[in-house]
Amino acid sequence: MIIKLFARIFLAIALFNGQWLSVNAQLAVNLKQHITFLASDSLHGRMTGSIDEFKAAEYIIEEFKKAGITNTKGTFNSKKYLQHFIYHPKVDSVKTTVSGNNVVAFINNHAANTVILGAHYDHLGWGLAAHSTYRGEPAIHNGADDNASGVASIIELARLLKSSSSTKNNYVFIAFSGEELGLYGSKWFVEHTKLDSTRTDYMLNFDMVGRMDSNKLLIGGVGTSPEWNEAMKNISPSFKVKTTESGVGPSDHTSFYLKNIPVLHFFSGQHKDYHKPSDDENKINYTGMEEIIGYTMKLIKNLDAKGKIAFHKTKDDSNDNAPKFTVTLGVMPDYTFEGEGMRIDGVTEGKPASKAELKTGDVVIQLGEVKVTDMMSYMKALAQFKKGDTTKVKVKRGNETIEHVINF
Ligand SMILES: [Zn+2]
Repeated sequence: MIIKLFARIFLAIALFNGQWLSVNAQLAVNLKQHITFLASDSLHGRMTGSIDEFKAAEYIIEEFKKAGITNTKGTFNSKKYLQHFIYHPKVDSVKTTVSGNNVVAFINNHAANTVILGAHYDHLGWGLAAHSTYRGEPAIHNGADDNASGVASIIELARLLKSSSSTKNNYVFIAFSGEELGLYGSKWFVEHTKLDSTRTDYMLNFDMVGRMDSNKLLIGGVGTSPEWNEAMKNISPSFKVKTTESGVGPSDHTSFYLKNIPVLHFFSGQHKDYHKPSDDENKINYTGMEEIIGYTMKLIKNLDAKGKIAFHKTKDDSNDNAPKFTVTLGVMPDYTFEGEGMRIDGVTEGKPASKAELKTGDVVIQLGEVKVTDMMSYMKALAQFKKGDTTKVKVKRGNETIEHVINF
């Protein structure tokens, strides 16, 4: 079935290994090669800031270069594909360091606007206690679906877009690091790149696209631009598409949404190997991945002549409500904040924080009786409440300290 679908999308043929193969056949070979390498034991789970992260980055850079995709300076200098980031978040009031590298590549079509395609390439190493859902002896978390699948997708999308007829935008491809620890790489990118939201057309995020086993693709963020539904309408994929509105979610597109850029998050669904050592390459659904890539190419084509698409704020349906909490403030915490307290990066309309008139930029320093000094103490404070509880929240807004009543 996939062969037929792709024969329709890619009529071109390419020379590969001395044989004439269709582009889709090469696509399948390439995807498998990328994931096999990135999710191999030799990379020890691609922990942010580790030598293994660097090896993964080197591989991604080489693949971009092979596909003829330059760095943002327009050259093939390997070092210039790297964007270093460093943060000092507090954990239990102790200053810690998170540093790593994003990989950034660029197709310059000399267009007015730029489309961003991103996927995080870091994973959990040997399993971080706070993040892994696996309990047992330390073991390598290969992260084949999470998120070698997304990285393989953007490398191949770069290759396809390089020779496509969708040339009315420039394209930036970013492999983020620091995602699993709290969206550090994407946050750094939006803050430190001279990212002009008026010239950034939209951002597509690929996080866990390798397990389309129920023939369904979940697309988050369709509320972030009125153009999304229209652009998707005339694509008839062989899979079902289930959409959600919110621009906020547990991955890197959130950083772009918070800068008023329309976003979509592609996700092939949750599974029992999520954040476990068993998220391995042999479980990847390559046919599904090829279909998602084909779908993305059509979506990009449908938007090609539209110019900069409009941005809409969404009623955010998923943010800080991790399962262990029975209540939520309805805010997006700034995980990278280095000061004392929990800085709010976004407020969800209709939720307790917005009802109490808290704002982006406010720093929560006390919730109920508990002093909030960092993310950890914020979560501890939140865990004490249940639905229906009323308490007070103290926030710093600029130099002022303000107190509000919170109804959970
Ligand atoms: Zn993950």
